[in-house]
Amino acid sequence: MPKAQETILEIDLKALKHNFEFIKSKLKSTTKCLAVVKAFAYGSDAVEIAKYLETLQVDYFAVAYVDEGVALRNAGITSPILVLHPQVLNFDKIIEHCLEPSLYSHRILDAFIETANKHNQNDYPVHIKFNTGLNRLGFTGQDVKTVISKLNSVTSIKVKSLFSHLAASEDKNETNFTTQQIASFKTIADNIISALGYKPMLHQCNTSGIINYPEAHLDMVRSGIGLYGFGNDPEVNQHLKPIARLKTIISQIHTLKPGESLGYNRAFKATETTKTATLPIGHADGISRHLGNGKGFVIINNKRASILGNVCMDMIMVDVTSIDCEEGDEVIIFDANNTAEVLAEKVNSISYELLTAVSQRVKRTLNR
Ligand SMILES: *Cc1c(COP(=O)(O)O)cnc(C)c1O
Repeated sequence: MPKAQETILEIDLKALKHNFEFIKSKLKSTTKCLAVVKAFAYGSDAVEIAKYLETLQVDYFAVAYVDEGVALRNAGITSPILVLHPQVLNFDKIIEHCLEPSLYSHRILDAFIETANKHNQNDYPVHIKFNTGLNRLGFTGQDVKTVISKLNSVTSIKVKSLFSHLAASEDKNETNFTTQQIASFKTIADNIISALGYKPMLHQCNTSGIINYPEAHLDMVRSGIGLYGFGNDPEVNQHLKPIARLKTIISQIHTLKPGESLGYNRAFKATETTKTATLPIGHADGISRHLGNGKGFVIINNKRASILGNVCMDMIMVDVTSIDCEEGDEVIIFDANNTAEVLAEKVNSISYELLTAVSQRVKRTLNR
């Protein structure tokens, strides 16, 4: 049995390179590739992931919030960084750190123009976001006229890209809807381009869009989950390698006699002699309480051990009655074989949620 020392999230940069190359192999050589590194690069390590992707000549990064972009700049990342969901409060920081905002409403556009003017900017790069059906963020087709008149009346900003986001690119039952989104975006983009007199980049595909809608790649694509090793589809998953391995250690082993209980609220009660292992990872580390009481499992000695009773803040207890193991042995929560997706599905969740839930107190290590 491999031994362990503490809870660690190992990040496999070779797997990242493999995934990046797989995504690139789906693109024309003229299509740029933006890596989405929001939420600590999907719970891994945004700085290390971004540094490594820069060595692989990635074209662009995206983060959700301004402070995520500032952290990348402070770590020496020099590639362009699109901030998908900035707030007005942070607009000065955007300019101070050469970040590029997504402007998604008149409120945001007006406020950013004001900030760019205040900082005496000329042609500051911005990205205009259009809502084509996700109904989350973005101007609509009806806003095109007013957006254009604002853009054409200032010199402080310049549109680097127009973009949209697909609502159901992974869902084969929604191809009509997605095709409609793609068509609306094209109409909007054509109108804007003819009125602007120059051609910004166009982009709308996330990972599943890249795979399922090659005709919609346009000038750039935005990949997040694919880089981290998941493709929202069993066939695509075969070509990708999950980059994150979350592992921990058996801190202690107990033997419960029939009638004895385990953990808070006595949620598990032994009906037969039960051997349990206590692990130093809990809901504060990203193990959802929903995974408790037999729903979730970990891997010890290549065998599944169910989580018994309630998930505690800093610990879980698992059933090792039929597993040959001892204190100090390594425990896998998820890795490339026992994937985050499989564990997430146990509680109606998705790989994205489980990966991004791994909290910052879990140490990250890199395998190069
Ligand atoms: C998060 C995000 C992405 C990445 O999506 P994946 O499914 O992880 O590839 C792309 N675009 C936008 C606007 C996003 O918010």
